[in-house]
Amino acid sequence: MTRTAKIVGLILVILAILYLLSTIFLAGRIDRSYNTVSVKAPYQHSDRALRLLDSIRFIADLHCDALLWDRNLLKEHNYGAVDIPRMLRGGMGLQAFTIVTKVPKGMNYTSNTGETDQLTLPFILAGRPMRSWFDLSQRTLVQCMALHDFARKSEGRFEVIETKADFKNYLSKRHANPNITAGFLGIEGLQALEADLENIDRFYQAGVRMMAPVHFFDTELGGSAHGVSKGGLTPFGKKAIRRMQELDILVDVAHASEAMIDDILRISQKPIINSHTGVQATCKSVRNLSDKHIRQIAAGGGLIGIGMFEGATCDDTPASTARAIKHVIDLVGADYVAFGSDFDGAVRTHTDVTGLKLYVDEMLQLGISEADIHKVMGENVKNFVLQNFPD
Ligand SMILES: [Zn+2]
Repeated sequence: MTRTAKIVGLILVILAILYLLSTIFLAGRIDRSYNTVSVKAPYQHSDRALRLLDSIRFIADLHCDALLWDRNLLKEHNYGAVDIPRMLRGGMGLQAFTIVTKVPKGMNYTSNTGETDQLTLPFILAGRPMRSWFDLSQRTLVQCMALHDFARKSEGRFEVIETKADFKNYLSKRHANPNITAGFLGIEGLQALEADLENIDRFYQAGVRMMAPVHFFDTELGGSAHGVSKGGLTPFGKKAIRRMQELDILVDVAHASEAMIDDILRISQKPIINSHTGVQATCKSVRNLSDKHIRQIAAGGGLIGIGMFEGATCDDTPASTARAIKHVIDLVGADYVAFGSDFDGAVRTHTDVTGLKLYVDEMLQLGISEADIHKVMGENVKNFVLQNFPD
């Protein structure tokens, strides 16, 4: 072997070792630095909250991004907010797992384009499957498979819910054994379709039951609240909404521009969701719902998940989430509001998944009735899934 060949060989070996090390350590480091909580576990409760907690049988949350980070959800972590052991300890009955596929560089709340992507390099360096490195529909499917894989390896502790029948079956099992938990799949941003409507059916086959047309930038479907156009639904977007609702995929207006929410409400044939939001009345932000939209979503039988992070509530305390919940209840009643934490969404959430019961204290302090607290904690999501998931 020539000297040059030896040097090239050595460089390749070093690169391979560096790549291997990055696949082992990088994902965890990124995950740990992006996903933090403002109040650390274990969480303390008042006596009154503890009494009520004993009677709460079902807790649900409409949004988390735990699948983005290549985290082994079967194991307990001392960072981030969600994994199956902590879901079990927190009494979580149903957690939405939402798939993110593209995050623009310099991401902000006011104006982004989809020209750049911060996720490509971490997907490569973390050793995620090669097909997901540059293709957003594959990046979606890889995350779907990951959740199914966790369910398969969970020894019956965790299930992925796809139909009303799955959910009823799970609820009756859980009645006998509360030490099981479940999730369902959603997508945040339909750039994941790669402009191909048939991908809606492919994602449905992979178990996706909720889709938000936009995330931080405009897509073929229409305008993001954080995009450039702030526009409504495009003709492609209208076709996509129609197909989603034919399949009983929940339409999620999180991150949508006001015009987009108006258009979706106008053409929707089914109740719609905002999976993680705040309300303008307690926190003015482009990502938060106006009273007009809260009323319209409720009038259509929809559901609003209130976020647990400063971007949605303008404050880093659980009390701010409770105030937004109280506003929705005062405006439209207690049947249309739930949790939509945004756990592990590259934000600092108020608590991790074991801390949801802390919100019981905060809601009691605001004078929300015990019956209404049950609805917010999980009963509303339970009923919504029983009514709106595919048969
Ligand atoms: Zn989001």
